Amino acid sequence: MANHTQIAVIGGGLVGKATAVAAANAGFSTLHVAPEAPVDRRTSALMGPSVDYMTDAGLIGDPETLGVALTRIRIIDATKRLLRAPETVFSASEFGYRAFGWNFANARLGESFSQAGLVNKNLALRAATLKSARRVDGNWHLELDDGDTLTVDLLVGADGKGSSVRKAAGIAVKERKFDQAALVCDLELGRGLDGESVEFHYPNGPFTLVPAGGNRANLVWIDRLDTLEDARSEPGRFVSTLNEKSRHLFGAIEVASPNFVFPLSVLSVDVAGKDAAVLVGESAHAFPPIGAQGLNLGLRDVASLNACLKAANPGSYGWADAVARSYGVARRTDLMRTGAFVDGLFTSLLSPHIPAQALRSVGLWGLKTFPMLRKHAISFGMGK
Ligand SMILES: Cc1cc2nc3c(=O)[nH]c(=O)nc-3n(C[C@H](O)[C@H](O)[C@H](O)COP(=O)(O)OP(=O)(O)OC[C@H]3O[C@@H](n4cnc5c(N)ncnc54)[C@H](O)[C@@H]3O)c2cc1C
Repeated sequence: MANHTQIAVIGGGLVGKATAVAAANAGFSTLHVAPEAPVDRRTSALMGPSVDYMTDAGLIGDPETLGVALTRIRIIDATKRLLRAPETVFSASEFGYRAFGWNFANARLGESFSQAGLVNKNLALRAATLKSARRVDGNWHLELDDGDTLTVDLLVGADGKGSSVRKAAGIAVKERKFDQAALVCDLELGRGLDGESVEFHYPNGPFTLVPAGGNRANLVWIDRLDTLEDARSEPGRFVSTLNEKSRHLFGAIEVASPNFVFPLSVLSVDVAGKDAAVLVGESAHAFPPIGAQGLNLGLRDVASLNACLKAANPGSYGWADAVARSYGVARRTDLMRTGAFVDGLFTSLLSPHIPAQALRSVGLWGLKTFPMLRKHAISFGMGK
């Protein structure tokens, strides 16, 4: 007879770790199936509400000790287009915040989330991969690659863009791959950013410097994959390209870490929960890293699932079906709205068409000029 647990969370990325902790803290016996993975070298700008969730859920302590406060955002149109947008700066103080959010190294967040899970007796961790999942008589039957089998009431897919849980649950997915990719690395600047995130908008995507403390910055450079591969193929040329792209505004730049390139796509699902299976994080949504939305949205998935679990009655027949249904309904609007916003922003940025460029310029002009519009945009960007 196979072992039984109430909830299995598949996937050991940040969203999977946060979900496993939430499920166990809500009182459910939880198995976290998370194979060993290479260190996540990305960094994440997480907005106030996400940071509040992580703090309240015990996933992190004081954000000041783990991350760097983001107090300003500067957007510079670096295209040579006919219709260019004006330079726009947003200051957190203008909107009554001390900071828009914090910039964290994913690896440090991951360590902190794992620590939070260790203290909960409801949570067991298995360094394995899900091989198959089938639903029989109201239970999910799981097979792991270490040979173990088990049954679970609720199956949670936190297993990224290629999600096996999504396939097993028969949830339809749409994915569009871009020619662009994102290159990330750490830089040491001649002059520090002092809490300001600076986005240079180029025709093939933004080149963003995010403050990482002192003179350190995290670079997220979106461009065509062949351009990125060419630029990083020779260290001397890489540094001179970085100086050029940042308009020589920050003194001499030194590369302070290896660089990594991530392919980009936009991915959405029909529904994020059905038949006692739910999808969180990139198994349910993915888009290019502009406007810092991906993990913020993933943490909102976790907060929403947490609320559904707290409202559930695990003693009742079909409780896991009910959780999946209510979660699917609860996430619908946020997933659609955020996905459409980021996709629209990215597409307008890349568009060679004058009307799209005009729309973006007018949009940024409006954001520069009208306080209500600025307030609304910031509120939306922060996921409020
Ligand atoms: C360059 C870049 C910069 C970004 N910057 C930001 C930012 O500033 N702010 C922000 O909010 N977001 C940002 N994002 C987005 C953010 O990084 C992602 O949304 C987030 O990391 C996704 O986490 P996840 O746990 O859903 O997925 P993943 O990190 O992809 O984790 C999925 C996990 O599932 C595991 N897995 C897969 N299949 C199986 C299986 N069969 N069994 C068991 N495990 C399995 C994998 O090994 C992996 O560990 C950025 C993304 C990129 C690419």
